Amino acid sequence: QYGDIAAFFGYIFSSFESLAQHQNIHFNVSQSRRSFETYFDADKLEKIITNLLSNAFKFTPVNGRIEIRVFYQTIDAEDWLLLEVEDNGIGIDAERLPRIFDRFYQVDDTAQRNYEGTGIGLALVKELVDLFKGKITVKSEVNQSTVFRVELPLPKPKNGLDKEFTIPTTPAYPTTSMEP
Ligand code: ATP
Ligand code: MG
Repeated sequence: QYGDIAAFFGYIFSSFESLAQHQNIHFNVSQSRRSFETYFDADKLEKIITNLLSNAFKFTPVNGRIEIRVFYQTIDAEDWLLLEVEDNGIGIDAERLPRIFDRFYQVDDTAQRNYEGTGIGLALVKELVDLFKGKITVKSEVNQSTVFRVELPLPKPKNGLDKEFTIPTTPAYPTTSMEP
């Protein structure tokens, strides 16, 4: 699509507002620009951000803090996106950190574990980031914080025939049935 990617992100983030309220999480979003017109793949970006955000909400206890920072930049006529999702939840120990992007990998895979899921979210995120020829890194400290950082180029489409993004009037997905 061609359109305002900052508005698009704002729209996605706002769909997590009620979850934040429900979990009493301090949810803070900052973007380097109020508006940024560019070409972007809304479907893929939405999958990346909702997976990172739902993990943050899943692995951060009540009264925690989740922060999102988005930076837009144009370097040599190419637009870039830098996205950081930080939480102060349970964290991931250094030994297991390198495996979290593996398909079906979960730090706690015991039957009695506290967290639902199948372990495919981050594998998908990694695949999508690779598809964009972007970069994803993670830093974490157990019981302190986890920060995912995604760097993505936003290339112009070759055919130039792209739909324009407009904010839908009804949410594209329900905000109440989000996984815990
Ligand atoms: P699914 O995404 O398929 O519902 P999942 O969330 O368990 O399941 P991934 O999103 O792939 O799977 O994450 C893999 C594992 O990485 C998680 O099970 C968890 O152990 C760890 N992890 C991911 N994000 C965080 C985070 N923000 N804080 C702590 N641990 C995390
Ligand atoms: Mg997940």
